[in-house]
Amino acid sequence: MVMDFLAPSEPDIKTPRKAPWKILIVDDDPDVHEVTKIAVAGCVFENRSFELLHALSAQEARDLLQKETDIAVALVDVVMESDTAGLSLVSWIRSELNNHFTRLILRTGQPGYAPQTDVIMKFDIDGYTEKAELSRTKLITAIITALRGYKLVMSLETNRKKLQQLNEQFSAIVEKNALSEFASTVLVHFSDLVGQPVDCLLCGLDTMPDYGVLDRSNIRVLAATGNFEDKVDLPVDVISDDTIRSCVARCIDTQESYAIGTGVSLPLVTRNGMTGALYIGMSMDTLEELVGSEVVKLFVSNVALGYEKTGLLEHIRNLAYVDRVTGLSTYSGFVETFQRNAASHASLLVVHADVQRYRVIVDGIGDEKAGAVLKRTGHRLSQTFPDALTIARKERDEFLILLKGGDANKVQDVVTRIEEAFQEPITLEDNQITLRLRLGFASDESDSQNAEELVRFASIALNDVRQKGLTNHAVFHPLMQEAAFERLRLASLLTSTSNQTEFSLHYQPVMHAKDESIAAFEALMRFRTPSGTFLNTARMIEAAEASGLISEIGAWMFKNAFSQFSRMSGLSGDVRLNVNLSPRQVQTNRIYKDIEDAISEAELPMDRLVFEVTEGLFLSNDQVTLSLLTWLRNKGAKVVIDDFGTGYSSFSYLRKLPVDGIKIDRSFIMNMDQDADALAVVKSIIAVAQALDLSVTAEGVETAAQRQLMQDLHCDYLQGYFYSKPLSVDDLNTFISKAVVPGVAFG
Ligand code: C2E
Ligand code: CA
Ligand code: CA
Repeated sequence: MVMDFLAPSEPDIKTPRKAPWKILIVDDDPDVHEVTKIAVAGCVFENRSFELLHALSAQEARDLLQKETDIAVALVDVVMESDTAGLSLVSWIRSELNNHFTRLILRTGQPGYAPQTDVIMKFDIDGYTEKAELSRTKLITAIITALRGYKLVMSLETNRKKLQQLNEQFSAIVEKNALSEFASTVLVHFSDLVGQPVDCLLCGLDTMPDYGVLDRSNIRVLAATGNFEDKVDLPVDVISDDTIRSCVARCIDTQESYAIGTGVSLPLVTRNGMTGALYIGMSMDTLEELVGSEVVKLFVSNVALGYEKTGLLEHIRNLAYVDRVTGLSTYSGFVETFQRNAASHASLLVVHADVQRYRVIVDGIGDEKAGAVLKRTGHRLSQTFPDALTIARKERDEFLILLKGGDANKVQDVVTRIEEAFQEPITLEDNQITLRLRLGFASDESDSQNAEELVRFASIALNDVRQKGLTNHAVFHPLMQEAAFERLRLASLLTSTSNQTEFSLHYQPVMHAKDESIAAFEALMRFRTPSGTFLNTARMIEAAEASGLISEIGAWMFKNAFSQFSRMSGLSGDVRLNVNLSPRQVQTNRIYKDIEDAISEAELPMDRLVFEVTEGLFLSNDQVTLSLLTWLRNKGAKVVIDDFGTGYSSFSYLRKLPVDGIKIDRSFIMNMDQDADALAVVKSIIAVAQALDLSVTAEGVETAAQRQLMQDLHCDYLQGYFYSKPLSVDDLNTFISKAVVPGVAFG
């Protein structure tokens, strides 16, 4: 196939004037010089005229031959200074001057001096004539024959030299490890080979096709020289010069060489389907003349080899940038793309996404299938974000998306697109898996220009979502980072043994709204430092969640709360104990055993317990949560949704959940007397709950007015400072002894 470029091409119209053939006349008879001059006057061979050089002795000839290295033919008189002057000149030319190219024609005036055939062979002599019989025609025929011989040996010599050169360049061409570098090396060597600057284009894929899909639109100019330098990086299809573009395109499409008057396009074809072309801005004739067809052929096959090898090497390097599970970018690839784009785009948005309850999916369907789920997830993300600069898998179930523009609208747009994209479950054989993605956002607008840092910011935002479990996305805010540091500090307070933080429990009463008798106590953790100060409970719980200590603390809380509660005297048997469960606790298997151990040790029946869970727990609707709650309810415990209204307050889902009631978040209760909206929310929550036969607790009741309002709305239970702050066990006993009588008015 590579040989096809030898096919005749259109004739070269503007052939440059070429240097004449140099012909040396060596003769001691000046007349011979004159006669020869007249005989060859006006002769042209292959578009080149003749230039005669004259030597009147063998010695003069030696001087000339040393100076002029490109003498094509020498006509040498045998007898000059001596009988053998001509023969020794010939011997000198071949042996001492080491010139094997100049063609030699011996001439003699004396037939008796004809040399032996072995001399003719030994000195590579092209002809032997007697001056007497040298007619013009015979002379010219002899010269032309010799010129043909000269041309042949010279082209063989060029080939030999170029091949040697090629051999030396071969490793340089093949040893490159980046295609662009490879391409420029090829062009430098090609100019060397031609022996003069050439306008060249090397076109090819700048990366190996991912899935072996070859698309010509991916073929670009990898390197260019001379007049073409401005075309570097252009896709072949947009090269502005029509003849060059179509010449290259045609060569690539047919994988055959293609010549136009001013240039030649030679195909680079590799075994693995990479295609490219070397376009040379000179006519085929000139190219063959300067380089030799064999050499061009070899050169091109070497280039194809180097192209393939370099492409493969680059592909292997690319493996570092392509995630094998999903086919998306790797984290390293993401960072590279980020850096490439950081300078050129006004603002960038990093989205860090993870799959909620991914661990549950893995447990349920196994690692192999979970890998397939990730792959589908990646595919959906790619389809959803064709505008992404890159999409990467960071680790496990975590994805990164890099987008242009980072304002609030963009964030909302991303959230909506993701929600829509994952509406449909992923179907894997018999399994239908509905995925929910949680998203953390960070933009480089003010904070950072650095990929790693921005990804960390987005992760902090994602962590915030994970912990709170209230929404499916969050945008990074510097306060989140502070909170993250704070959690770290608090977690170390929880663990450090030398500086043991003391755990204790306070209890806050929950009252029947109707008669204001005690309905329950909510157990609330307290953390006391050795110096005696109490740490903020909500933040400590958050830190315990984040660090994974929550299960440990939860087990301690069940054990102590259940036994303290079962030992409280003077309580009627239907007063219950409320305990809080955080999302992370629910996800562990140990919670069943922790609860069972604590109730059997405290000899407390399960139907005395109420478990408070947050809305975020239900976001993913996963089996692990649902089975725990069902188990608790089957054993007689009640389950209520805590902080209701702060998260995903979709009423429609309430009906399907295994819960007995809701606790309206205290922010609504505290605001409802001044804020009409808050009141409206409270009213509608109560209406829906009542319709679904769910109990309603109002928390954060601080004033008589709030109490009144909630009573008027037929709320079931009231909790808040209006009745009591959370109390230590001792203070609680005092409270019980005073307040146990139904109907006793508060406030
Ligand atoms: P929560 O479950 O919403 O608990 C009620 C919080 O509101 C308590 O804060 C309580 O002191 C406070 N509170 C009660 N009535 C009023 C009121 O009238 N006005 C105001 N302003 N606040 C009131 P605390 O004890 O700091 O607990 C904070 C959070 O920590 C709890 O919120 C709960 O989510 C979590 N928590 C506490 N103990 C535990 C536990 O043992 N396990 C788990 N998982 N979480 C716990
Ligand atoms: Ca609670
Ligand atoms: Ca609450």
